Amino acid sequence: MGSGTAQGTAGVRDHGGGVWSIPVPIPDNPLGHTLVHLLDTDRGPVLIDTGWDDPESWEVLVAGLAACGTGIADIHGVLVTHHHPDHHGLSGQVREASGAWIAMHAADAQVVRRTRTSEPGVWIDYLTAKLAAAGAPEEHLAPLRAARASGAARALPGTRHALPDREIEPGALLDLPGRRLRAIWTPGHTPGHVCLHLEERHPSLPEGQGNGRLFSGDHLLPEITPHIGLYEDPEDATVTDPLGDYLDSLERMARLAPAEVLPAHQHAFTGAPARVRDLLAHHAERLAGLRALLAQRPLTPWELAERMEWNRPWPQIPYGSRTIAVSEAEAHLRRLVKLGQAEAVPGTDPATYQAV
Ligand SMILES: [Zn+2]
Ligand SMILES: [Zn+2]
Repeated sequence: MGSGTAQGTAGVRDHGGGVWSIPVPIPDNPLGHTLVHLLDTDRGPVLIDTGWDDPESWEVLVAGLAACGTGIADIHGVLVTHHHPDHHGLSGQVREASGAWIAMHAADAQVVRRTRTSEPGVWIDYLTAKLAAAGAPEEHLAPLRAARASGAARALPGTRHALPDREIEPGALLDLPGRRLRAIWTPGHTPGHVCLHLEERHPSLPEGQGNGRLFSGDHLLPEITPHIGLYEDPEDATVTDPLGDYLDSLERMARLAPAEVLPAHQHAFTGAPARVRDLLAHHAERLAGLRALLAQRPLTPWELAERMEWNRPWPQIPYGSRTIAVSEAEAHLRRLVKLGQAEAVPGTDPATYQAV
C-alpha cells in the first residue's frame, strides 16, 4: 500500500501513517457520502465502515481501494462504528469478496439481529402504537395502518444486513497487529455506536496538539449534529435516555482531546474539544427552548415536534422525516424529565408534558 497513489480517484485522501479515506456515495441523500476509512495493519488493510448497499457505491469503494494501492480481496477486517445503512450497508459484500471478519459493538449487533428476524408487521404495529401514544394525528397513522393491512411492508431496510462475526469490546485495544486502535463506546446516536481511537502519534501535526486520531463515525461531525432519537426496540420497554448518553459520550471525546477527528461524513477536522463545547452549548440551548415551550402549555411529543426548529417548516417536512422528528422530540423530553425540568401531566392520554 504505497502512499501518494491516491490522487487518481476523486476524493480519495491519504491522511498519512497508513490511513486513507474514500468518499462512498449515499444515493439520494443530502449528506452526499460516507467517508469509509482504510487502515493498514501488519495483517492486511482494515476498513472502518463500508458505505451504502448500492451497486454504484460498491463500484466507488472498489475503485477507491485500488487508488489506495490495495483491493477488496485483500481486506482483513471490517470495523463498524454503528449499524446504520450508510455505515454497515456494504459490510456483507466486503466479507463475501474478501473473507474479512466484521466487528461491531454488542448493542448494535443486537439491533441488526432483531431487524433481520423480526416480522415487518411487528415493527409496523410497534411504530403505530408508539406514534399514537406520542399524539400523532390519524392522518399520520393511516398510511401505516394501510401498509399493515396490505402486507406492503415486507421489504424493510436493514433486513439484509450482515450479522457481525466479532464484538467490538469497549475500552479494549483491537486485535490489529502493528496498530494501537482502541474502541470507545459512545452511545447516543445508536445504542452501540463506537468511536475508534488511533493512539499513535499524529503523522504530521506537532506533538502537544492532542492525542492521536479519532475515527468518530456519526458521533462527532464538523458542521452538523447527528440525529438523536429513541433507541427503538419493540422488545424492550426500558426507558432509556439517548440524549443523555450522547451528551456524556461527547464530554468523553473532549477529555480524550484527539489531535484530529476523522468523521464518517463531511471532512476531517482539528479542535475536537472546542467542537464538543459548541455541541453541548447547542443542546443546552435547545433543551432550554423546549422547556420554555412546555412552560406555555402542556404538549404531547407530537405537538412539541411541530413547534421545534427544523431545517424547514413543519408542513414541508416529509412523512418519514416527521416520524424521525417525533423520536427526536421524545429524546429531548426524556432528558428534560430526567433533569427534573419537565414531567408528564397525570391522567393524560396521549401523555402531555409540562415544565416544572
Ligand atoms: Zn448514523
Ligand atoms: Zn451516517
